[in-house]
Amino acid sequence: MPTVIHNFDDIDFELPGKHHYQVAFHLDGSWGYSLVPLTVINGRRGPNPNGVICFGGTHGNEYEGQVGIKRLCADLDAGQLAGRVVLMPQLSESACVANSRASPLDGVNMNRAFPGNPRGTISSRIAHFVKTRIFPQGRVVIDIHSGGMEGAFPYCTSFHPIPDPAQRAEIAKVSQLFDTGFVLIYSSAMASGLLTDEAEAEGKVTIGSELGAGASTDRLGVRHAYEGVKNVLRHYGLLDGEIVKIRPPGAAPVRLIRADKLDAYVPSPRNGVWEPVVHPGQAVDKGELLGRLHDFSDHSSPPADILAPRAGWVAMLHLGARPIKGQTLFVIAENIEWSEVMG
Ligand SMILES: [Zn+2]
Repeated sequence: MPTVIHNFDDIDFELPGKHHYQVAFHLDGSWGYSLVPLTVINGRRGPNPNGVICFGGTHGNEYEGQVGIKRLCADLDAGQLAGRVVLMPQLSESACVANSRASPLDGVNMNRAFPGNPRGTISSRIAHFVKTRIFPQGRVVIDIHSGGMEGAFPYCTSFHPIPDPAQRAEIAKVSQLFDTGFVLIYSSAMASGLLTDEAEAEGKVTIGSELGAGASTDRLGVRHAYEGVKNVLRHYGLLDGEIVKIRPPGAAPVRLIRADKLDAYVPSPRNGVWEPVVHPGQAVDKGELLGRLHDFSDHSSPPADILAPRAGWVAMLHLGARPIKGQTLFVIAENIEWSEVMG
């Protein structure tokens, strides 16, 4: 069984070999803990300046990262590794147990809780632990997400607009190692307090992702997560071996798309029953029909046709059949060249 940690100072991040922990965060209103899983591996093949930190379960109802990173906890062998790998497969452990986006303990979305607060509610205390104890262990930070019950995305890795050219170019390079069909540059303005916001601001090579949807465990999404992280370890020399292609032979080059302005995130104009007629990752023209919003208060009424406001790629579609007014219905991203971000 993993070692239960009550005092953060008892985690020896320098200890050679592989060590499994459960970090105990006391509950806010009763006696007990959320036991957050943590695995620290210090490879026996010597040091490496590029420690790699991976998170799954930042949202509890997104399983590709939880499963992919749990498998890495078991499979990565300290004898074959150089440098340090830190793995947290269920960061918002209470949300993972509850199969929910946010923690049921404090109602907080872990991916809005950063930089956290050592005297805050449980999610805020976990975020502060990550910021102060985990981020210093590496310069590469990977947070594996999927759409949960919110949206359907094409398989993608993602990052925000990054002002620093060298950091941006390195992130863009590493984002391709997951061999998803798309890499998405997404807006910083839709939300704040993200784990990736904090890591990017610290200058880390920071990768987000969307690798499935619907609170399921997507087979290919797990493969992108698991093999993609191993590709990152290979890229930086923590693991030996060549970068592995994850999609089938002959797949198109990874496409870079951008939705960095809020007007690309289009709200549903009203409540309704949503019938999409395009799929995530599809190219659409300006004015093309994306879907229909049906009103069953009069089943003889025509639907509201939802049209693409511009040409581009469908980067996100509302997943559920029942969007409410104001919820993001779709995102159309524009194509951009890798040279724009890699200099
Ligand atoms: Zn998520």
